Amino acid sequence: MPKSLNSDCFFEHTYSELPEVFFEACVPVPVADPVCVVWNDALGKTLGVESWAEDAHIWSGNRLPGNARPLAQAYAGHQFGGFTMLGDGRAHLLGETVLTDGSRVDLQLKGSGRTVFSRGGDGRAVLEPMLREYLISEAMHALGIPTTRSLAVVRTGETVHRERPLPGAVLTRVAASHLRVGTFQYAAGCGEPEALPALIRYALARHSPQTADAETPALELLRFVVAAQAGLIAQWMLAGFVHGVMNTDNMAVSGETIDYGPCAFMDRYDPETVFSSIDREGRYAYGNQPSIALWNLSRFAETLLTELHPAEAKAIEMAEGVLKTFEGLFHGHWLKGMRAKLGLFTEEEADEVLIGELLESMHRNQADYTRTFAELDPEGTNAFFDVSWYAKWRERLARQPLPPEAVLERMRGANPRVIPRNHLVEAALNAAGESDMAPFKELLAVLREPFSQKEVSEKYLQGPPTAFPPYVTYCGT
Ligand code: AMP
Ligand code: MG
Repeated sequence: MPKSLNSDCFFEHTYSELPEVFFEACVPVPVADPVCVVWNDALGKTLGVESWAEDAHIWSGNRLPGNARPLAQAYAGHQFGGFTMLGDGRAHLLGETVLTDGSRVDLQLKGSGRTVFSRGGDGRAVLEPMLREYLISEAMHALGIPTTRSLAVVRTGETVHRERPLPGAVLTRVAASHLRVGTFQYAAGCGEPEALPALIRYALARHSPQTADAETPALELLRFVVAAQAGLIAQWMLAGFVHGVMNTDNMAVSGETIDYGPCAFMDRYDPETVFSSIDREGRYAYGNQPSIALWNLSRFAETLLTELHPAEAKAIEMAEGVLKTFEGLFHGHWLKGMRAKLGLFTEEEADEVLIGELLESMHRNQADYTRTFAELDPEGTNAFFDVSWYAKWRERLARQPLPPEAVLERMRGANPRVIPRNHLVEAALNAAGESDMAPFKELLAVLREPFSQKEVSEKYLQGPPTAFPPYVTYCGT
């Protein structure tokens, strides 16, 4: 029997079995006049929530579905390097559900009203950034990049006051968990001795159950998170994704991309690409993401020290031993991904030089990152902007015993034709602000098949028009 037919036991609540310091039970604050503007039908079916489909009262928090027991999670975090106590100031976890494949996911409302963690905030979210999170997270999923998912966006019918009055909204987010590096920072500093070991056991059971019985759970967890982040950041880099606000509270230990704020995809290749208005120093620039991830993981490792070994020096040695693997793991994923993007099946030592030369040339020629790869053609009918690099690549291809069709097939599976182009995202969100959801839905449909060779309107394949100003994103408030 589908679970949704028995809503009395739909949700499970393992998170609330953690020590009480980790959460505050609280209900969403009702909104005036909710209307569902996007509903993720396929995801709804996977979750088994068809009977609540498009129910604006449920997905705004006005009415609690089934046996939901909402709570706000406590966490801390380094924001742009500075440490702060945080927590869900505008989000409510409804509970967890277990999918048919056995995986457990959280369902969380974002923008659902004030909590004890709201500090000066109003607990609300604005329509545009919630639609942005929906669009980009679903695009990431279609690209095969681990991410939280988006189930629904509901307009609240209320006005939210930022620099100007804006339409309010609530997003329903689905995540492997909402455990963040910042959750561990909170656990290590909250003054409750049982908090950290309990959180470690919980996270391990949830994300790496095969190692849950290990002798030193903290070591296994550190290994898991370092490996998961190495894989994730490699995928961001391969896709040209800039998260924009890689604070430790925005890094999920599951290895999913989380907290879509000022994120965006790079158009022209440039490692210094920054979109976020608040990232003035380029801390979270495209090219800095691997080193920032390692910085965050080091903060994570620090929280685990007391659980790694009673002798501090030994604990530090253990932590460093794992952190040291990050670079190699990241680089391995990245190189494998780059070889696929260039249609390489075999491995040659000089491949890295070839890849480096292409990126260098793209930078110098201000080439569009996505298009360069998508249009790279082993049969060479159209002219490539760097003739000498192209000749080297062809020579390299000739050294592997494979027909051009096989090369092309591999490249097509690794090089998306469509990404959420900033100018298109902007246009779709502007229209949505005027209550026209058609451009948003059309863009979303195209983004669901980024590797398809099906014919799509040329506008989805192109970079920004020359008149499009340098793109600036604002934190998702
Ligand atoms: P974010 O920038 O979305 O990662 O949020 C950072 C912190 O600020 C988190 O603790 C959020 O819960 C909190 N926060 C962001 N916006 C609001 C808001 N409008 N009201 C209350 N808390 C907020
Ligand atoms: Mg956040």
